[in-house]
Amino acid sequence: MESGVLIEVAEGRVTSLRAGSAPGDAVVLDGLVLPGLANAHSHAFHRALRGATQTGGGTFWTWREIMYRVASALDPDTYLDLARAVYAEMAMAGITCVGEFHYLHHAPGGTPYADPNAMGEALVEAAAQAGVRITLLDTCYLSSGFGAGPDTTQLRFSDGSAEAWAERAESLAGALKARDHARVGAAIHSVRAVPADQLGTVAAWADARRAPIHVHLSEQPAENEGCLAAYGVTPAGLLADHGVLGPRTTAVHATHLTDGDVALLGGTATTVCMCPTTERDLADGIGPAKDLQEAGARLTLGSDSHAVIDLFEEARGMELNERLRTRRRGHWSAAELLRAATGDGHASLGWPDAGRIEVGAVADLVTVSLDSVRTAGPRPGAETAVFAATAADVRDVVAGGRVVVRHGVHVLVPDAPAALRAAIARLEAS
Ligand SMILES: [Zn+2]
Repeated sequence: MESGVLIEVAEGRVTSLRAGSAPGDAVVLDGLVLPGLANAHSHAFHRALRGATQTGGGTFWTWREIMYRVASALDPDTYLDLARAVYAEMAMAGITCVGEFHYLHHAPGGTPYADPNAMGEALVEAAAQAGVRITLLDTCYLSSGFGAGPDTTQLRFSDGSAEAWAERAESLAGALKARDHARVGAAIHSVRAVPADQLGTVAAWADARRAPIHVHLSEQPAENEGCLAAYGVTPAGLLADHGVLGPRTTAVHATHLTDGDVALLGGTATTVCMCPTTERDLADGIGPAKDLQEAGARLTLGSDSHAVIDLFEEARGMELNERLRTRRRGHWSAAELLRAATGDGHASLGWPDAGRIEVGAVADLVTVSLDSVRTAGPRPGAETAVFAATAADVRDVVAGGRVVVRHGVHVLVPDAPAALRAAIARLEAS
């Protein structure tokens, strides 16, 4: 930790770091300055469910029913509106890059829009308007479970085959070439949603482009049981058999794993994205994050269903979950937890040159206030950010060299709460 550092930026990158007095036109960043945070797993539209799913009981599967109702109501126009506000909320929480796991491709009933990538392009435009970078993880989703056809809601998600998915994803990648803030990756929704004989097609597309590939893995025991019944192997085993695991791959959740699964994920240097606030909200369980890391997996963090958008809460949630599970403290240092929320997250989204404050890196800077009621007192450092601060303590955000949030206000979406309220109300009325 150093104080009084002058950070010079040109063309979106850090060009020098030195102690000394600032020139008159320098932007003064007060507080604890961190690299930009990466939200490695997002479904933007789930933000519309916040609060609405907190009455009554149920499980992940009953929650999914309500989530599907929102999914049915969206079109490219309303999704642009909603995602712009959600990404503004993310920016205000210090997030400079989002991994959007996107499967809402087609119109209700499954008919493609005139531009078959209208929904994905709406998300990319939303990120631009909110001043954050996006990796659009274009998701292959073909089945309601182990070979069965998609159900009514899921028709919107399906391209019919992995080959048709790859064709559409390829045209999206072409359309986004000129957009500096966006990259395209691949995703497999889950082994439930993509039949085994189609997994290789998605993996091959990502391989050919050297693109990230993300996949939901073993969030629920029912997925493991279904996979064992259909194929005689665990979901992690099935992904390994079809060439899906590896250093460009992120397995999301990885909650219910066997020892063999942990060894497979670690041995292939697959990244694992933990989403602690969603996993606890949906009563999923606690994944073996520490075991995975010790086996060789890299860890990242995501706010997934956006019950909360706060990467500090995700970071400490991973550590605190492990404490509850093991009844021991101190599994990761605050600096290690912050690395999951910054550099490792950006790398998993295909931005290996972001998430660090160093010469040559993408100029993403976040300040955390050290004089709020939460952060006043402790000596400034990573511990303050991870164990005391919340997203509400983020004051300034620079993304790619551009000031996006200043003194707690989003520069491009000055009234982000109103934008969220209006977008969600519009959706409810449709
Ligand atoms: Zn998810």
